[in-house]
Amino acid sequence: MADPLKILFLSAEVAPFAKTGGLGDVGGSLPKALHDLGHDVRVVMPAYRAIEAGYPGVSAMPGHLTVPTGVGMLPAGVFTGTLPGSDVPIYFIAEAGLFNRPNIYGYDDDPYRFAFFSRAALELTLALAWKPDVVHAHDWHAAPALAWLATAGQADGRFRGIATIFTIHNLAHQGRARWHIFDYLGIQTFSLAEESYGEVNFMARGIYHATMVNTVSPTYAREIMTPAGGAYLDGLLRHRHYDVHGIINGLDYQEWDPASDGRIANHYNADHLGARVHNRHALQARASLPQRDNIPLVAMVSRLDWQKGLDITGHVIHMLMNGFSGEAQFIVLGTGAREYEDMFARLAYYHPHKMTAYLDYNAGFAPLIYAGSDIFIMPSRFEPCGLGQLIAMRYGSVPVVRATGGLADTVQDGHTGFTFHDYSTDAFWRALQRAIYVYNVDRERWQQIQRHGMMADFSWRRSAQGYQQLYEWAIARTFS
Ligand code: ADP
Repeated sequence: MADPLKILFLSAEVAPFAKTGGLGDVGGSLPKALHDLGHDVRVVMPAYRAIEAGYPGVSAMPGHLTVPTGVGMLPAGVFTGTLPGSDVPIYFIAEAGLFNRPNIYGYDDDPYRFAFFSRAALELTLALAWKPDVVHAHDWHAAPALAWLATAGQADGRFRGIATIFTIHNLAHQGRARWHIFDYLGIQTFSLAEESYGEVNFMARGIYHATMVNTVSPTYAREIMTPAGGAYLDGLLRHRHYDVHGIINGLDYQEWDPASDGRIANHYNADHLGARVHNRHALQARASLPQRDNIPLVAMVSRLDWQKGLDITGHVIHMLMNGFSGEAQFIVLGTGAREYEDMFARLAYYHPHKMTAYLDYNAGFAPLIYAGSDIFIMPSRFEPCGLGQLIAMRYGSVPVVRATGGLADTVQDGHTGFTFHDYSTDAFWRALQRAIYVYNVDRERWQQIQRHGMMADFSWRRSAQGYQQLYEWAIARTFS
């Protein structure tokens, strides 16, 4: 094994303590996988309301931190516990005025809230007398720590020589603030070309200051270096292209396992695919659809958001439901933009015996859809990594996806699923037809595709090995 590394892991979301999306999953799973590789990982996140209110297994540390800021030395409390199911320590930076609020994000002072969190997290390492080899910051909320380490921190021997990694989970949220925030952080620096006059862009700062940068899939890493996918930061990313990597997120194999998932009707594995049919029947019963066995049951579980490719989905479902590819059933579970909810509601109204639309969020129901459907569609416009296709493959539902971002890296056309490239109804429909054709005429090959998907390795262990490599490169690059 490689030498154990000391890794400080900074994230605004860590499941199960706080989660709004994939960032939370990564925060909850990756540290455990790194710990299993033998590393000393310590996670820091803000103490949101749920923590302040008393979270099982989390307790207040005695004393408090004194955080240097441009407006004086500010106190911060610290709660501590472990990531559930592990002994990975997690620390929560407590400042009730900043974090004890109803939501995690969405406030005018978000940049100050997360600047304080980031700076306090570095101060915490001094209080613990624990100097990390690597600071691993996730998304813009933790980027102030990297900006500080690369500038003001260089004047403080206690913080010199620390390698840094910046992981981009969502380039769309960049954390823009007034330049004053650098006074608050005690940073003196010049502005980047990506920052307009008087503005700080923390996403850009993370990319600029980190020793190494990565995102959550190799294809998304390439896409964000193009004007089409770069959200105005593609130039900066290209400038650093040697240091920009892509590492696919893992899937929590304890939570997502058809051989033990308590939320599905019947357990099965790749060697006993026949047992899946009970899930199909349970799903059809729940969706009030006829219990037909030999027609493709197509499904979608998704946020109903512009990103997810719903503009090219409506017409494809229209054709599917009108029998242009033979008989089929369709089930969608999703909530989000009104226009897409209306679209599915209208289609379901026209085809009540062939499709059902659940326009809500139901984490307990989703597993049965993965376990009972034949085909899982994910026609995303862009997709940094994507979890839906990984779960679908694990559960033997064959994904039909647009080959973008993490979808391109995880679904192999004709081997574990079906892919298309153009963002168009035509391309999507052709890929879905190819899938349905194999389903209808070559059941043996279909089952092979199912098995390939079920046996593919998207474990967190594999991702953690990728991060370990990145840490080692970053450390080799850092001089103390
Ligand atoms: P994103 O994080 O962009 O929403 P991912 O594919 O990475 O997309 O993750 C989506 C996750 O959320 C999957 O686990 C999916 O099953 C789940 N999900 C999405 N919409 C719903 C819903 N309406 N009900 C239950 N689970 C949902």
